[in-house]
Amino acid sequence: MNHEQSRDLYDRALSVMPGGVNSSVRAIQPYPFFVQKGDGGHVVDADGNRYVDFVMGYGPLLLGHDLPEQVQAAIQQRASEGPMYGAPTEVEVELAEFVTRHVPGVEMVRFVNSGTEATVSAVRLARGYTGRDKIVVMQGGYHGAQESTLVEGHGEHTHPSSPGIPESFAEHTLTVPFNDTEAVERVFEEHGEDIAAVLTEPILGNYGIVHPVEGYHEQLRQLCDEHGSLLIFDEVITGFRVGGLQCAQGKFGIDPDITTFGKIVGGGFPVGAIGGKSEIIEQFTPAGEVFQSGTFSGHPVTMAAGLETLRYAAENDVYDHVNELGERMRSGIADILEDQAPQYTVVGTDSMFKVIFTREGEFGEGHCEAGCTQNPTCPRYEHCPKNGMDVKQAETERWERLFWPAMKEQGVFLTPNQFESQFLSAAHTDTDIETALEAYKDAL
Ligand SMILES: *Cc1c(COP(=O)(O)O)cnc(C)c1O
Repeated sequence: MNHEQSRDLYDRALSVMPGGVNSSVRAIQPYPFFVQKGDGGHVVDADGNRYVDFVMGYGPLLLGHDLPEQVQAAIQQRASEGPMYGAPTEVEVELAEFVTRHVPGVEMVRFVNSGTEATVSAVRLARGYTGRDKIVVMQGGYHGAQESTLVEGHGEHTHPSSPGIPESFAEHTLTVPFNDTEAVERVFEEHGEDIAAVLTEPILGNYGIVHPVEGYHEQLRQLCDEHGSLLIFDEVITGFRVGGLQCAQGKFGIDPDITTFGKIVGGGFPVGAIGGKSEIIEQFTPAGEVFQSGTFSGHPVTMAAGLETLRYAAENDVYDHVNELGERMRSGIADILEDQAPQYTVVGTDSMFKVIFTREGEFGEGHCEAGCTQNPTCPRYEHCPKNGMDVKQAETERWERLFWPAMKEQGVFLTPNQFESQFLSAAHTDTDIETALEAYKDAL
């Protein structure tokens, strides 16, 4: 593969943008390929190389790169009528109605411009509503670039994970390992009265893909109820992907107090949203006292793209299609692992997938059929990752330095590290799956 154009572009980019990129995960070693355009389930780079794209913008693209006529038309129409106004528009109401109609825990919603903004606002809202300062987050959970959740450490011994964040921010954030029922119980025993909220992804989607163990979310729900704390589901990645239109909360049958959205709900344009019970969401200004505002919030082009994407998904069996592709991908990879690398674990659900280079397991051992669901009767139950630390201890260097480049050379674009999820879209075809599985066979 020739990468001359990308190399030159990266050379220029390094002079004017820190690390040559606008989001740190894009700075692939030794340099990223620059995308010229998307095409169905593929991207074409600046040198004309074509890749089957399983990054899908890191999650927002449910329909792939070729938007259906009705979505395309709605976006063009809105853009041609002037980009935005600083006054409300009908399309915001329509998208809010759509979201509240389909997501069980959401009665009202406030749209913002990124997943980060959504989680920042959700934490402020929970603190304002409860009058408490502490939040509980999962180690290996990701909630965007926000001060309160960029922490490392255990329990109450937490520190900011980035320079530029005062120690005092981390003082209010307690961390527990995902899926560890005892750890979260202990944290509530000691700090229950001060905990405003537990903030968690329903599935860790930015750190391996880790499925919850049976009963974990129920326990979080119960602890929050007993202590007057709120349960916040960060569905920025799982929203309108896992569980279809009802989102992961519908699939798991959990009723969170607050839900954050991003990614798919904006149909590929910058977006975030905070939804939940009216009593809580109405604490946002101007209905309530918790300040929340934004020049671009509810942007008409974004709202139109999100609304028409979700309408299209509702009317066209999109979820059946992408979930079936996900199933085929995960079980296809699992078969390859059985022959070539039985110590590795296939993870994911619905249209999310990944292979974690875990270190234990034997030929002929057996595994979950199409991705780890933390099934206690699965022979790999003891070996599959239960939390962020387990994922971190996998062969992450081998994944990034040897496996990822080998896949790229065969024209398969994966998220470039061990931690981020990969996605199927409505634009992917059977041939794309076959191409990818052949590449896995070769690269693993
Ligand atoms: C992507 C993501 C975010 C951050 O969203 P941005 O739009 O990148 O700010 C927050 N939480 C989760 C679970 C995410 O996957």
